[in-house]
Amino acid sequence: NVRVRFCPSPTGNPHVGLVRTALFNWAFARHHGGTFVFRIEDTDAARDSEESYVQLLDSLRWLGFTWDEGPEVGGPHAPYRQSQRMDIYADVAQKLQDGGYAYHCYCTTEELDTRRDAARAAGKPSGYDGQCRDLTAEQKAAYEAEGRSSIVRFRMPDETITFTDLVRGELSFTPENVPDFGIVRANGAPLYTLVNPVDDALMEITHVLRGEDLLSSTPRQIALYKALTELGVAKATPQFGHLPYVMGEGNKKLSKRDPESSLNLYRERGFLPEGLLNYLSLLGWSFSKDQDIFSIEEMVAKFDIDGVNANPARFDLKKCEAINADHIRRMDPKAFADACEPWLRAPHANWAPEDFDAEAWARIAPHAQTRVTVLSDITANVDFLFLKEPVEDQASWDKAMKGEPAALLTTARENLDAADWSDPESLKQAVLTAGETHGLKLGKAQAPVRVAVTGRTVGLPLFESLEILGKERSLARIDAALA
Ligand code: GLU
Repeated sequence: NVRVRFCPSPTGNPHVGLVRTALFNWAFARHHGGTFVFRIEDTDAARDSEESYVQLLDSLRWLGFTWDEGPEVGGPHAPYRQSQRMDIYADVAQKLQDGGYAYHCYCTTEELDTRRDAARAAGKPSGYDGQCRDLTAEQKAAYEAEGRSSIVRFRMPDETITFTDLVRGELSFTPENVPDFGIVRANGAPLYTLVNPVDDALMEITHVLRGEDLLSSTPRQIALYKALTELGVAKATPQFGHLPYVMGEGNKKLSKRDPESSLNLYRERGFLPEGLLNYLSLLGWSFSKDQDIFSIEEMVAKFDIDGVNANPARFDLKKCEAINADHIRRMDPKAFADACEPWLRAPHANWAPEDFDAEAWARIAPHAQTRVTVLSDITANVDFLFLKEPVEDQASWDKAMKGEPAALLTTARENLDAADWSDPESLKQAVLTAGETHGLKLGKAQAPVRVAVTGRTVGLPLFESLEILGKERSLARIDAALA
């Protein structure tokens, strides 16, 4: 029975790398009919926030991930917020000390720094040197009498740790590269190094799929697992798979500071969760050689960890947008129209709410569906329908009005006045004929009409737009342009 976990820390806006990790875990669980556990790693009071916790849950729901165990859902291993599990960690930390797997370390930061620098200078491994590994009761008492505080350190076994990573194959870590590490702070606060594997053990996680940046934690966690198993706290050690780095501009790791890394940006721009997830699934995985657009159900049916590639993946916003646009085109037209409505009714659309015309929207929506990359594009495409006057954009005017547009526009207006406004084809003929009169092809002839009516040089099919806007309003705009 597959049990995976997604266990972010609530420290700021979720980023796309985190979403990729959630997606791979979720898809893996769903593919295998397993359990997706959602756990909140909020043991760092200085960095974690309630706001960010709420945002994490909201983001996961927006993306369409459902969790089988976790916050608000509960489950057999509740609570799923680490801040509510402190007594568990204290208990395990005590067991580790009692069993000799961990010890108090009284070294001060200055002492550690001095010894580390000396080891470096001598070309020796610079990790913790084991100074407090085997203190006698007298030595401890003396340190305590001095008023020194202590942290709890885990005693790494003196042996090479080898494991088979599900993505990268066999990996080995020699003892000098994995020194004893802290698990509890001097103030008693347990660290990630302890709480993460303890919870994985107690929650009976079978597969740990996470970013490559956490690879160096794995030998420590495997050693800790061994101790927990000997103590009867863990039943088995999970398998580990490390997902490749996501690279941004200039072949640097995509960082929280890169604007395109923020999930909120995608929500604000009106990406579809399906489109975004489709793209993110391609960061380290591929659906098939000749298909990169697919539904989330298709992904789940195909996804497995052995298809994940160890090479760094490059984040490409343009491709992400193109994939999203494709998902928009595949939407049921009614669903598309409904999904856009909040954007059209939002205060940032600069017309009054009562000027939103649901009927006109329903008619124009199918034409817009093939044009937008993200839902927020919709306002600029259809604002001419709801604004009292078209947007004023001088650059568009200058561009469309090159040459002798006034004469053309006058003729076009006359022809349009006589045309059949229930038939876009008739409106097209009107402009086409006006163009012929002035020696202009349709493309050139319709540009001033488009700018006069919509305020823009590009947009939805013009004659359908005119028909939907109606004769009276369209001609009034042409008149205003000619005045
Ligand atoms: N809370 C850790 C993080 O967000 C989880 C790491 C892990 O998956 O082990 O980095």
